[in-house]
Amino acid sequence: MRRLLIASAAGPELSAAAVAAWAQAGVELVDGGELFADDDDTGERSAAGRAARGGEPMLLVLPPGGARASAALARGFADFGVEIAGLVLTGGADAAAVERLAGMPVVRDLDDVARLHALAAAPAKRGEVYLVGAGPGAPDLLTLRAVKLIRRADVALFDRLARSPVMDLIPAHAERIYVGKRPGAHALTQVQISALMVKLAQEGKRVLRLKGGDPFLFGRGGEEAEALAEAGVPFEVCPGVTAASGAAASALIPLTHRDHSQACVFVTGQGKDGPSGLDWPALIRANQTVAIYMGLAQLDALMAEFVAHGAPPDTPAAIVDNATRIHERVIVGTIASLGAAAAAAALKGPAIVFIGSVATLRAKLLAEAG
Ligand code: SAH
Repeated sequence: MRRLLIASAAGPELSAAAVAAWAQAGVELVDGGELFADDDDTGERSAAGRAARGGEPMLLVLPPGGARASAALARGFADFGVEIAGLVLTGGADAAAVERLAGMPVVRDLDDVARLHALAAAPAKRGEVYLVGAGPGAPDLLTLRAVKLIRRADVALFDRLARSPVMDLIPAHAERIYVGKRPGAHALTQVQISALMVKLAQEGKRVLRLKGGDPFLFGRGGEEAEALAEAGVPFEVCPGVTAASGAAASALIPLTHRDHSQACVFVTGQGKDGPSGLDWPALIRANQTVAIYMGLAQLDALMAEFVAHGAPPDTPAAIVDNATRIHERVIVGTIASLGAAAAAAALKGPAIVFIGSVATLRAKLLAEAG
C-alpha cells in the first residue's frame, strides 16, 4: 500500500469526518491549499507543491466545474509532473466523463474509504523513458512537449548539454546523471547508456534522455530507442529543432528556395568510416543544399573532396558556429575559401556547414532586413 497525499487545487472545506476517514484509509492529508502556490520571490512552496515535486502520488481535489474543464485541469497538473493517483470532485461534474477525459480514476464520494483503499493499493507508476530533443542551444527553441516531458522527469541523463539553460527546467528533485566524457575517466559507451536507461525505467522511474537538436538526427536516438524497445521499456520520442534548421533560421540561409535549391541533404562529416564514406556524386548535384554535421574538424578535407568530385570551387558555402547561441558566428564564402576563413576565425564548434547557392541569400536578406 502506498501513501497517498491529498492536495487541493480547489481549496474546499474538507469535512473533519472525511479527513478522518481518509487517514484510516492510509491517505495522508497534505493540506496544500493551492498545489502550485509557489512564491517565486521567497522560493517558498506549499506542502503539496513540495510533495508534487518530490514525485509522490496524490489525490487531487478539483474545484467545482464541468467534466471537460475538470479533466483539462487535472491533465494540466499531470503535465507539470504531478503524479496523480486519483481525482476528487467537489462539484456536480459527471464522474464517468471526467474519468474518461482525464484518463485518471475519480473518487465519487469523499467518504468512500473502500475506493481510497483501492487507489492506494494500485501499483506504483510505470517507468518510462523520454528521448527529448533540446534543440540547438537557445532554450526558447524547445518545443512545449519537450518542456512538459522535462518537467516530468525523476532522473535525467545528459552529456553535451551540461551547461545549457535547458537543464534549469529539470525538476529540482530529479537526479542528474552525466553520461558524457569526463576528464580522466572514460565516457560511458552507448551500450552502457542504453543499459542504464533500461535499468532506471525498470525501477519505475521516469527517465529523461536529453539530446542536442533532434534525437533522431545524428543523435543516436535510434540506437537508444532500439535498446528500449528490445527491453520492453515504454518510451516516447520528442523531436527537437535540429542544428541545420536552427542555424538556417538564425543565419538567414534558407535550406530550400525555389530559385536555388529543390532538395536539402543532411550528412555527417564523421561517419563510422570517416568522410570518405559519403556518396559524393549525390552531394555535388546542382540545385540542392548540403548541410554537413560534425564537419568542422575535417573541414579542409571535406571541401577538397567536393572539388575533387567535380564541384566548382566557387560553389557558395557557409559555416554557422554555435548557432542560436550568444556566441553565434557565421562565415560565408565558397568551398575553396571556407576552410581558411574558418581557421582564421578560430571557430571551435559546434558548427554546421552549408554548401549551395542558398548561402548567398544571407547577404541579401541581411541588407534588405536593414
Ligand atoms: N542531434 C543533433 C546533432 C548532433 S551531432 C541535431 O539534430 O542537431 C553534433 C553536430 O551537430 C555538431 O558537430 C554540429 O555539426 C551540429 N550542431 C549541434 N549544435 C549546433 C549549434 N548550436 N550550431 C551549429 N551546429 C550545431
